[in-house]
Amino acid sequence: HKHPYDENNIFARIVRGELPSKKVLETEHSLAFHDINPLAAIHVLVIPKGPYVSWEDFSARASEAEIADFVRAIGETARQVGAEPQGYRLLANVGKRSGQEVAHLHVHIFGGQPLGAMLA
Ligand code: 5GP
Repeated sequence: HKHPYDENNIFARIVRGELPSKKVLETEHSLAFHDINPLAAIHVLVIPKGPYVSWEDFSARASEAEIADFVRAIGETARQVGAEPQGYRLLANVGKRSGQEVAHLHVHIFGGQPLGAMLA
């Protein structure tokens, strides 16, 4: 397997409730929580609860319900944290070259300030 999923990665432990997080939204298949090291006034992470490392992995193995839930959770989280209506940025690091630190698929939501050309 190309991307063996580590059941003990930090986000898996947050999903299982073994590590605390500042939750914004929880749905059947997704979870959103504040980043522990915020790089913008609003910096939230949205993850599918299932064991997916990358978009390739997620799109190949997740159900239609999980995929729909995740997409909706991103938009709903942006609204709940007030990133809407002023505007925000979504970012997902995938793989070593991007600097992906946690091997569980996640989308960053940055907002609450002018974002310029920042990358994370
Ligand atoms: P990556 O570089 O993989 O795209 O982003 C991982 C993000 O997870 C980083 O922004 C980092 O601050 C955040 N992070 C790492 N460990 C924890 C944690 O235990 N709790 C929370 N809430 N965020 C974390």
